[in-house]
Amino acid sequence: MWTLISKIVDLILPKRCKNCGKIIYDDDALCEDCFNQINFISAPYCFHCGMPFEESSNRSGPTLLCPACAAEKAPWFRLCRSAVHYDDASKPLVISFKFYDRTDNVRLLAKWLNMAGKDIWRAGVDVLVPVPLHYTRLIKRRYNQSALLAKELSKITGVPVEYSALVKHKRTRPQVEFSGRRRKHNLRGAFKLKHAERIKGKKIVLIDDVLTTGSTLKECAKALQVGAPESIDLLTVARVCKD
Ligand SMILES: [Zn+2]
Ligand SMILES: [Zn+2]
Repeated sequence: MWTLISKIVDLILPKRCKNCGKIIYDDDALCEDCFNQINFISAPYCFHCGMPFEESSNRSGPTLLCPACAAEKAPWFRLCRSAVHYDDASKPLVISFKFYDRTDNVRLLAKWLNMAGKDIWRAGVDVLVPVPLHYTRLIKRRYNQSALLAKELSKITGVPVEYSALVKHKRTRPQVEFSGRRRKHNLRGAFKLKHAERIKGKKIVLIDDVLTTGSTLKECAKALQVGAPESIDLLTVARVCKD
């Protein structure tokens, strides 16, 4: 009976590619053309920061580090991973999800997060923490895209989400208006840990949609450190990978 109902629903509301809208057979997916355009981040990449290496090699594992991570004495995060390159192919999906109410993209993007996070899950985690929005922006946008991602990822992984321990208490200009050091300056002191007891001794995964320079995640991590978590990992859907 249910199969028949779902067949009828499919006829009335066919499944569509999340990117171009072409009719497809899978739920929460892309058509073959759009999928083939997506540039997934794959090995070889730095085991610590997740930055992909240019050379083609199947080497991977904890010993493979980029020069910056190899020289880093006191890293501010444990592991960082992103699913895809932030480029012309992935941008429409991320932007429409973030700004244009395409919250239905969340199931596809959370699946990608789960795949990209395999080293993080293996290392062990206790809680997902989405990058918070200032309440004025939340009212304007009506949803926090990072919180939706964390919620959906939690359904897949079973790792709980902590929504309110970390807050954005300072209103800032959108990061896209700045570059380099000014991005850092714009966010200084913007985040605050409201409930330190909820993250004390926990292995945290910070969730966001895009990793550009890392300023946002670094400011969030700084605020979280006040609560003495055991570790902080970073997991984003897309990442700007410089050549
Ligand atoms: Zn498509
Ligand atoms: Zn690295």
